Amino acid sequence: MALVNTDAIVLRTYNLAEADRIAVCLTRSAGLVRAVAKGARQMKSRFGAALEPFTLIRLAFYERENRELVSISSAEIVRSHFNLAAQVEASEVLAYMGELVGDFAPPHEANEKLFRMVTACVEALETSTGPARLVLRYFEVWLLRLAGLFPDVRSCGDCGARLSEADTAYLDVEVNSHCQKCSHGPATRLLPETQRTLIATQHLPPLDFAIKFKDLSEESEVQVAELTHRLIVRALDRRPRTLVASTR
Ligand SMILES: [Zn+2]
Repeated sequence: MALVNTDAIVLRTYNLAEADRIAVCLTRSAGLVRAVAKGARQMKSRFGAALEPFTLIRLAFYERENRELVSISSAEIVRSHFNLAAQVEASEVLAYMGELVGDFAPPHEANEKLFRMVTACVEALETSTGPARLVLRYFEVWLLRLAGLFPDVRSCGDCGARLSEADTAYLDVEVNSHCQKCSHGPATRLLPETQRTLIATQHLPPLDFAIKFKDLSEESEVQVAELTHRLIVRALDRRPRTLVASTR
């Protein structure tokens, strides 16, 4: 059995047998793991509050060959987010994020970019005074982008023409982007503001994004949400189980 030490974020937990818990964690060095916390449901558990959802922890676990479940040796809190759990909108967004990360991240496959993106989004939810759903939009766009499922709205997929606010992308039914000349058949034309918003996700961290677009028009927000939702449903082949009001 090999001992692995890594930073991790707890996505969710569920009960196992009488006294144990399983924590689904996104780890920096080992990707998504399902980890058994022995005795975590006992009154005097050595894990304390470390396994509360969305706590950033320093996790040590034993990996066993050919076993999907790993067993936790220790879990220490690096940063807790208890106050987020008390906010209705933020906690709904977190539950939804946890579900999607669990669905999109392949088990035991490290993805530094995904880990950094998820932790930055949780931090942004904690710090931002703007609506939580803007962080959610950012998260969805990046989750899809890191999975290679988000269209590049900055250029035409056919002729390679650069697309700007003045010449926005047309998305076909397959969600590929085209310039106006190359677009044939039914297509959705992105609003200039939507185009600007999507391009901004590429270079802004989530907190800056949430601040910059706090006054995003409802029209553009709906367009972004419809686009991400369509791609997520297509990738999962079903609707996410955790549906928050802000995912429409
Ligand atoms: Zn073109």
